[in-house]
Amino acid sequence: MNRAAPAANPLAFLDEALDQLRADGLYRRLRVLDGEQAHTARFDGRDVINLSSNNYLGLTTHPALREAAIRAVRDLGAGSGSVRTIAGTMELHMELERRIAAFKHTEAAVVFQSGFAANAGTVAAILGKEDLILSDELNHASIIDGARLSRAAIKVFPHRDAAALGRLLEETASVKRRLVITDGVFSMDGDIAPLREIAALAREHGAIMMVDDAHSSGVLGRNGRGTIDHFDLHGQVDIQVGTLSKAIGVLGGYVCGSKNLIEFLYHRARPFLFSTSHPPAVAAACLAALDVLEREPERIERLWSNTKRFKAGLKRLGFDTGASETPITPILVGEAETAMKFSDLAFERGVFAQGIGFPTVAKGRARLRTIVTATHGEEELDRALEILGDAVRSLGILR
Ligand code: PMP
Repeated sequence: MNRAAPAANPLAFLDEALDQLRADGLYRRLRVLDGEQAHTARFDGRDVINLSSNNYLGLTTHPALREAAIRAVRDLGAGSGSVRTIAGTMELHMELERRIAAFKHTEAAVVFQSGFAANAGTVAAILGKEDLILSDELNHASIIDGARLSRAAIKVFPHRDAAALGRLLEETASVKRRLVITDGVFSMDGDIAPLREIAALAREHGAIMMVDDAHSSGVLGRNGRGTIDHFDLHGQVDIQVGTLSKAIGVLGGYVCGSKNLIEFLYHRARPFLFSTSHPPAVAAACLAALDVLEREPERIERLWSNTKRFKAGLKRLGFDTGASETPITPILVGEAETAMKFSDLAFERGVFAQGIGFPTVAKGRARLRTIVTATHGEEELDRALEILGDAVRSLGILR
């Protein structure tokens, strides 16, 4: 038989890409968690103070959530068996949507498989190629991907710059449908969007206003209702996105808004239509988490007192923490390689704070990203500060 000689490996370019990541100090192995996601946890066989999870309120291991999930598995099984629009809508899914809408003071809500799916699915569903998206430069990747999928034009405004957004809105007045979109709390910097100004501009210029409250729900506002509640903007933001995967401690994303918005998303948001719904245990645990938010507000108080203590400690150590105002506090170091070395040394000494470099953050803005939770103890946080201070001195980086 006249077989052609085997071609060279068509995926060989991946080897080169990975070599480049190694050369740039950006290659990462996944750290593996052995046991529960907790304030001190065992990663890669080492017990470390965990400053890397989004488990703000410690709900991943809350007894009420565990019990609700176990009960749902026992009563309803392990999976939902279908997408929402065919046979995969269970009463628990509907109950969760009603509860979220009531919690956020909106007419309705829809739950997606993740916050990523909620953002990308919503932006892509409501906009088309005639439309325009005005987006903060540090918005989450899921917003950027949704914007690309929508095929709308995209204009990026400088981070938290309401005046620049105002100018863009003036310049683009002829575009019929415009969406202004911002994270409520920015995931890598921990700063808060100037939402009052931004929402007022969107309103004044007749644009749709959308906020991604992934890192603010469970953190800011009454009982963790998010930035809209924090700034008292109920009724002034058309589309509120949140996640069930961070402070809520489980998995999923949601969109809150008018009944018509939610019905439209039921018909047009592609992750909702084409990807299987949550197992009943997920919905049940999320419902239990909403009860905990109402019943145990002291968790949020503790989160904030820990945040203040830890931030003050980082300042004392002379770290540059940018403009953070929330439990996400970056320690800015500059080059990715430095951030990774710093992170690795801190880890060896007992603190897990993830090093973050390009493309997650801009080149030259690499950092350690720390997140405190309500469940950290004060001594634990003081010990973490000591370790971070010692690590930075041993490396001879920063002042
Ligand atoms: N938005 C922001 C701002 C986020 O930080 C994240 C999570 N990294 C998401 C959305 C996506 O949420 P999820 O993890 O639930 O997909």
